[in-house]
Amino acid sequence: MKAVRLVNIGKPLEAQDVPMPSPGDKEVLVRIKAAGVCHSDVHYRAGKSPVGELPQTLGHEVAGIIEKVGRGVEPRRLGESVCIHYLLTCGECVYCRQGREQFCIKGRMIGKHCDGGFAEYISVPDRNAVPLPKGVSFDQCAVLMCSTATAFHALRKACLAAGETVAIFGAGGLGMSAIQLAWIMGAETIFAIDIQPHKLTAAEAYGAIPINAATSDPVALLMEKTQGRGIDVSLEVIGLPLTMQQAVQSLGVFGRAALAGIAESPFKIHSYQELLGKEAQIMGCSDHLLSELPILLSFLKQGRLDLSHVVTHTISLEPAAINQTLDELQHFDGHVRTVIHPADSAA
Ligand SMILES: [Zn+2]
Ligand SMILES: [Zn+2]
Repeated sequence: MKAVRLVNIGKPLEAQDVPMPSPGDKEVLVRIKAAGVCHSDVHYRAGKSPVGELPQTLGHEVAGIIEKVGRGVEPRRLGESVCIHYLLTCGECVYCRQGREQFCIKGRMIGKHCDGGFAEYISVPDRNAVPLPKGVSFDQCAVLMCSTATAFHALRKACLAAGETVAIFGAGGLGMSAIQLAWIMGAETIFAIDIQPHKLTAAEAYGAIPINAATSDPVALLMEKTQGRGIDVSLEVIGLPLTMQQAVQSLGVFGRAALAGIAESPFKIHSYQELLGKEAQIMGCSDHLLSELPILLSFLKQGRLDLSHVVTHTISLEPAAINQTLDELQHFDGHVRTVIHPADSAA
C-alpha cells in the first residue's frame, strides 16, 4: 500500500510502498477515509519533537472504516465507521489502571512512535477504534481526535461549572473548539484573547467577547469586564510565558488556570497576590482520554459542536500536497485544517 513517510529529519516527506498491515490479536485494520495534517507534524518533520525509528508514517488524526478484524475482535465490527484514539496504551500499568492513560509507561502515539495515518490503511488495537455516530463526517471526526479533545480535557481538568466566566488565551483551532465546548459546559460569558483581528472575528462569531491583546492590556480589561472579580476559568493554548502569566493574573477568587500550550521557557507568578490570596489553582493539561472521545462525537452528532469552519481543505495522499500543507502550517499560523483523503489518490 501507499504511505507518505518521514524518511529524513528536516526533509520533505516521501511516498513509499509499504506492506499492508495485518491486524494481530485484538486489532482491527482500518481503511483510512480522512487524516488530518496537524501543526505537530511540522515539528516532527523539522526534528523539533523526536519521533520513533525512521522511516515513519506520520498522521495521528485518523478516521476510516474497519475492513478486517483480528482474533478476539467481534466480527460484527467489520464495516464499522470509526475514528482512532492516537495513544496506544498497555491498559495494565499503574497509570492505565488509575485512568491516567496518557502517562502509560509503555504509551506510544500513532504517527509519531509508530506508523500513522498518512497511508491507505492502518492497523490499531480494537479499543482504539471508536465507533462514529451515524451522519457525522470522517473529516470532522479525524480533526476532533486532536485539538478539540485536548481543549475538552483541559476544560474538564479545570472543573468548568455552569454559570462561570471563561477566558481563552489563543483563538486558533484549539481555542475555537474551546469556545464551543465552554458554551456546551454551561459557561456564562466567554472572552477570547488574541492579537490577530481575523481570529478575534472568528471567535466573536462563536459568541465570545473578543479582546485584542495587541492594543490593550488583557488582564486589566478582563478585570474591568468582570466588575473587578476576575475570571473563573482561564485556558492558555498559545504556549507563551506572557500569556500563561496573564491567564493566572486574570483569575478571581477560586479561579483555575488550565495551561495547555507548550512553552519553552518559564513564567513568573506572584505567589501570594495571584495564587494563595485567591485560593486559585494552576493546572497542567496533557492530551486527553479515550473515554472523552465518545462524548465529543455525541456533541458533533447533536450539532452542538461544529468543526466545518475548521476543516476547510482536502488533499489527496500525495507527498507534494502534504509537504506544501506542512510548509504553510510552518510559515503561517494554521488556523484551518487540511485533511488527506487517501481514496482520492491515484492507485
Ligand atoms: Zn494533531
Ligand atoms: Zn499503561
